[in-house]
Amino acid sequence: MSQNRKKFLLDENLGKLAKWLRMLGYDSVVYKSISIEKKISLCVKERRIFLTRSKKIAKMNEHFFRILIRTEKYDNQLKEILPLLEINNEMFFSRCLECNNGLQAIKAENIDGLVPENVKHNFTDYKICRKCGKIYWHGSHYDAMKSKLKNLLTI
Ligand SMILES: [Zn+2]
Repeated sequence: MSQNRKKFLLDENLGKLAKWLRMLGYDSVVYKSISIEKKISLCVKERRIFLTRSKKIAKMNEHFFRILIRTEKYDNQLKEILPLLEINNEMFFSRCLECNNGLQAIKAENIDGLVPENVKHNFTDYKICRKCGKIYWHGSHYDAMKSKLKNLLTI
């Protein structure tokens, strides 16, 4: 994974955008109930780009990299920041959509009982989030998200 790949910190009302960024393989954190000062200091310390819908935050007289998201819907929001992103197929689904943790490949024989039987019969390629235990596979959900993404990126 590239060390130079951009990292983001998003306001709580951008949760859906955060999921899409994670799907694209971007380290994207959303913190609940922490102060704006704390968020800014995390951005500076961890070299994250602050994505916000707040004009007040965007105009703050502080030294941190921030972007004001102007639209309401996540697909438009994704388009707004698209010029910043590097779309790399290999990075897709490398992070847990729920908790942003990096996913690890796991062998099918090690997930007995963890995924539905019909999934186990049809897929061999699995990844696991060691933080929340969620298991990902290249199933219909994956395909649906990928084709949706394709649409978003070509419009
Ligand atoms: Zn997780």
